[in-house]
Amino acid sequence: MIMNLRVATYDLQLKHTFTISRSARKSVPVVFCEFEHDGIIGRGESSPSSRYNESVQTVLKFFEKINLKRFGNEVDIPRIMDYINQVDSGNSAAKAAIDISIHDWIGKKEGVPLWKKWNLDKSKIPITSFTIGIDSPDLISQKVKEAEEYPILKVKLGVADDLEIIKIIRKHTSKLIRVDANEGWKIKEEALEKIMWLVKQNIELIEQPMPATQLDDIKWLHERAGLPLIADESVSNSADIKDIAGYFDGINIKLMKAGGLREAYKMIEEAKKNNLKIMLGCMIESSLAISAAAQLLPFADYADLDGNLLISNDPFDGVKYQDGYIKLSDEPGLGVTKRL
Ligand code: MG
Repeated sequence: MIMNLRVATYDLQLKHTFTISRSARKSVPVVFCEFEHDGIIGRGESSPSSRYNESVQTVLKFFEKINLKRFGNEVDIPRIMDYINQVDSGNSAAKAAIDISIHDWIGKKEGVPLWKKWNLDKSKIPITSFTIGIDSPDLISQKVKEAEEYPILKVKLGVADDLEIIKIIRKHTSKLIRVDANEGWKIKEEALEKIMWLVKQNIELIEQPMPATQLDDIKWLHERAGLPLIADESVSNSADIKDIAGYFDGINIKLMKAGGLREAYKMIEEAKKNNLKIMLGCMIESSLAISAAAQLLPFADYADLDGNLLISNDPFDGVKYQDGYIKLSDEPGLGVTKRL
């Protein structure tokens, strides 16, 4: 019996054009993969981002280089992922798809959900935030209404009219807000001025206030900001953590940056050692990759797994949402099924 790896591309359609400080998109192309062996299919997903020099084309090219024949009959995640990692550097979203599919396969083979395999308590999961992208005042108002059932909003800033965006939202709701500037603030004094205004607006934290390349400015800001700073673009994998510890209060862990669940798990251990808070985040992804990341939620201080809620053609059923809480399934593997 050989291990089979199949891929297919798919366009996730966004309910609203999704705008952040550096880009605007109506749809997001992703790559799904199936790892089949011994009559069991494990599923994975790759949502490549140009911010990390990946695209559907680079993901497909990476898959062409993979040959699992060398592993014979033994599905050993560390051995297979060590091989995948040495095939080429980077390509973390491509690697994530493979890692996710093999984890799903292992869970199905053993008949356990991954959170249970890792001895995690699924009742200990923080509330997830719902993301509001940058938009016109009318659309922002509409999105805030659509997000009514979610107790925490994540608001994308990093543009000229940041304060206006928050003022519009505050006309409709006083609920807790997380701000994500997506590297949009380029001048430290201006960033500090915005944060000093935001402190008074029931803001929980600021994610990636300034570009990852401006770490000295981020350090300056961190010494003065009255709100926790969370690293997103500044940290992709466990090796990056030592470079940013001390400049941030926490890190946003995403499977697509890390290269899958195995590395995300290592990041959690490394974050704990460095006294950093843990946020589990996502790209725009279907319920497949979201359900994979959700397996690690009992480790998280902050949950930000809503990429699947922003799309209109999700081909998978996975984790459920209740009053802002993600409910992990008792089904084996990722607990994901394909919609007909
Ligand atoms: Mg972010």
